[in-house]
Order: sequence, then C-alpha cells, then structure tokens
Amino acid sequence: MASKLTGTTALVTGASSGIGAATARLLAEHGASVALVARRQGRLEALAAEIGKADGTALVVEADITDRIQAEAAVQQTVERFGRLDILVNNAGLMLLGPVVGADAEEWERMIAVNVQGLLYTTRAALPHLLKAAEQGPRRVADIVNISSIAGRVAWSGYGVYNLTKFGVNGFTESLRQEVTQRHVRVGVLEPGGVDTELGSHNKPEIQGAMITPFYEATEVLAPDDIADGVAYMVTRPRHAAIGELWIMPTDQA
Ligand code: NDP
Repeated sequence: MASKLTGTTALVTGASSGIGAATARLLAEHGASVALVARRQGRLEALAAEIGKADGTALVVEADITDRIQAEAAVQQTVERFGRLDILVNNAGLMLLGPVVGADAEEWERMIAVNVQGLLYTTRAALPHLLKAAEQGPRRVADIVNISSIAGRVAWSGYGVYNLTKFGVNGFTESLRQEVTQRHVRVGVLEPGGVDTELGSHNKPEIQGAMITPFYEATEVLAPDDIADGVAYMVTRPRHAAIGELWIMPTDQA
C-alpha cells in the first residue's frame, strides 16, 4: 500500500472495537504512527500487536475520554511518544435508544458524556498540536475527522438523545471547520449508516429486540472497513482539498 501518511501521527478514540479498530489499522497501513485510545486495554494491546506484526507502529493509551484529565493525558502521551499529532479521529461513541417518555436519565448522561463531552475534551487538547503540525508537518496540513452518524442528519422516534448528540457533533464540526481551515487544519464529519459493530449491544434487551436486531436482520449493513476507507480518503486528500462531510450508507438502507 502507498504510504501517504508516512511521518504522521494519528490518534483514534474508540480504537478497541468496530470502526475505530478498523480505522487505526488502515491509517497504520498508510504509514501513520497510531495512538489507540479506549478503556479496554487488552483489546488495544491485541490490536497494537497486530499492527506491529504488519510493520506498523501503534501506542496503547488506556483512557476514559469522558474524564477531561484522561482525555488530555491521552493526547499528551501521544505527543510525548511520537513528537507530533497530525490526525485526530473522534470515533468513540455510544448509542442507547428508546423513548424519551420514561427514559433512563443515566443512559442519557453516559451517551452525552462520550459522544459530546469526550469529543470536545479530546479536540480541545489536540488542537494546539494539530495547528503546529499544519505549519511544520510533512504534509503541512492536519485533520480532524468526527464520526457522526446518519442520525446526525435525520431524526427518528426513539433516537432522541442519540440524535441530539450527533446533530450536535455536525454543528460543532462545521463551526470548528470555519475557525481553523485557513490555518490548514481540515475538520470534517463522516456519517455512517448501519455498520456491523458492537454499538447496538449496549442497549437493554427489549430495545435490542425492538429496534436493533430487526434492522440488522433486514439490511446488508456496512463493515467497519467501509468506514475506515472513508476516513482514509478524507485524510489523504491533497493539502488544498478538504472533505467537510462524507455520508456512507448501506446500499439497501433507505
Ligand atoms: P463500538 O461499540 O464497536 O465501538 C465504540 C468504541 O467507543 C469502543 O472502542 C469503546 O471502547 C469506545 N468508547 C466508549 N466509551 C468510551 C469512553 N468513555 N472512553 C473511551 N472510549 C470509549 O461501536 P462503533 O464502532 O459502531 O462506533 C464508533 C462510532 O461510530 C460511534 O461514534 C458511533 O456513534 C458511530 N456510528 C456507528 C454506526 C453503526 O451502525 N455501528 C452508525 C453510525 C455511527 P471501550 O469500551 O474499550 O472504551
């Protein structure tokens, strides 16, 4: 594979499974040194070993990004180890569905903490390093890719607070894009439709039975690699071209 990202460093949150793991693997194949951030250290170590075997470079960073101090430390550890940060993929996320009426407010808090606050903490900590990489890096451009969702474009009953977080990610992405794009930090959002990952498994069994399993049974969903391909496309554009939004759907998801 062409090494378009040689000499760069990428930090991927939520790298212990699904889209984040696939993205980290692919960015490493493109030549980036990759910081793998999530809470499940064993998963991250297995992925780091796999990347190492394929002649890539990975750093395991165990962190809960809903804790601002841990999110900041994750960025700091990455920069200390690799000397720079060129690419941030804000991928960690949680999707807990169900009606607003009678909802479990603790589920809302957990979802907002990861999808919104965690993304903000990591972004804030990374920006000074990304701005520096855009001035001094091999590519003279840096990237933030925020993994949103089709649920950041369209709202459905039962998705209320997940919709709230992902619509919020889209708005924040566009605002930050305008703020830093002329300093050559590209900020874009990637919105997947259904992907075969662990995302739905964190829901209560009755929600899985009513809202998740039927969709997955009826749809030929995407693989995590399909989304990783999209991220790689966004971050390997030439310096003058920025992808602000990329919407990737299973063909048979209407
Ligand atoms: P997974 O459940 O497989 O992955 C979620 C990742 O987020 C895990 O690596 C998990 O790691 C990490 N994570 C969760 N909480 C935290 C935390 N507090 N701190 C650090 N990491 C955390 O799901 P996906 O791969 O599907 O999800 C990735 C992103 O894609 C999410 O933002 C999701 O909303 C989005 N998305 C997914 C779609 C799908 O159909 N699968 C569709 C549209 C968007 P750990 O538990 O080890 O901390």
